[in-house]
Amino acid sequence: MADEKKRDYYEVLGVSKTATDDEIKKAYRDLAKKYHPDLHPGDKEAEAKFKEASEAYSVLSDAEKRKQYDTVGHAGMNGNYGFDANSYSDMFSGFGDIFGDIFGMFGGRGRGARSRGPVQGSDSTYVLRINFEEAVFGCEKEIELSYKAECKACHGTGGKDGEKPTVCKTCGGTGEVVSSQRTPFGMISRTARCTDCGGSGMKVKNRCPECNGTGYISTRKRIKVRIPAGIDNGQGVRVRGEGEPGENGGGRGDLIVEVVVRSNPDFRREGTDIYSTVNVPYPVMVMGGDITVKTVDGDVSCKVAQGTQSGTRVRIKGKGVPRVNGVGRGDHFVTLNVEVPVSLTNEQKAALKAYRDSMSTQPGKKKFFGK
Ligand SMILES: [Zn+2]
Ligand SMILES: [Zn+2]
Repeated sequence: MADEKKRDYYEVLGVSKTATDDEIKKAYRDLAKKYHPDLHPGDKEAEAKFKEASEAYSVLSDAEKRKQYDTVGHAGMNGNYGFDANSYSDMFSGFGDIFGDIFGMFGGRGRGARSRGPVQGSDSTYVLRINFEEAVFGCEKEIELSYKAECKACHGTGGKDGEKPTVCKTCGGTGEVVSSQRTPFGMISRTARCTDCGGSGMKVKNRCPECNGTGYISTRKRIKVRIPAGIDNGQGVRVRGEGEPGENGGGRGDLIVEVVVRSNPDFRREGTDIYSTVNVPYPVMVMGGDITVKTVDGDVSCKVAQGTQSGTRVRIKGKGVPRVNGVGRGDHFVTLNVEVPVSLTNEQKAALKAYRDSMSTQPGKKKFFGK
């Protein structure tokens, strides 16, 4: 986007270049409260100011982005931090506590007023550590997770003896109560979560004592998870319906099993290719021969061509990682390094000296020095 000249982010927030995280946060909080669009409906200038401050904060509150900004200025900020002010609720997602504060002050936006309809449960995450080979070939794992199971006493209604919840009279089922309030900024109509029903819009007369009215019991559950061959570090498997329970009859969310792959001392992986290194005796590099290379399929014999230089990389086709889509496998690349012997017998020493002497008498060759 063609930026008109942008103001310095520090200037925008009114802090020094050496400001601490707390100072930056405080400065931003003050500005956000001053220019928040909820307080200035239709005021384009306030909206622009709010947007500008949010952008500055998004960069300066992130140690890595701030460092980049300090080094190269706006040029290093490739436009990803530009915001569409109309969708300012989008950018709140990453801001955590600071917007918790602001929303706490200004009302329900962003928190999301709950409707009375069925609400799907949210997804939960489980981090699973697996070995290098398990990632390559896939595996089945049994995991134990904390799980909100339906309360048997009330069958998930949260009401004593299974009493079904009815529409909350306090909020009429909206889950919110609206009140108007005079503040230094003017009249603010404030929306707060209904305390009577906890925002769900539904209420039971007598809470189920077993689950304290939640409808769920926290327990632990063991489930089996299939990890497909070829999965890589940071990728995940979705297990349908094992996430958080829904509300008002909504289904459960999913469980996302995120995989962390332990490193392997012998192999390094890049995509579907595997890399390793072997030390090859000098005579084999010179005269050629067969060597044994360890792959994920076990030992494989590999030809070394005559006159192979140290550092040469050889491809062993099809011994890499299976592609997750099931079509074929990557390759194994082995780097051949010369193995330098650290101790020699007298005969070997004599042979090597004879070799050296023969080299040093070749015309045009540099003399070797040494005993
Ligand atoms: Zn219960
Ligand atoms: Zn209510």
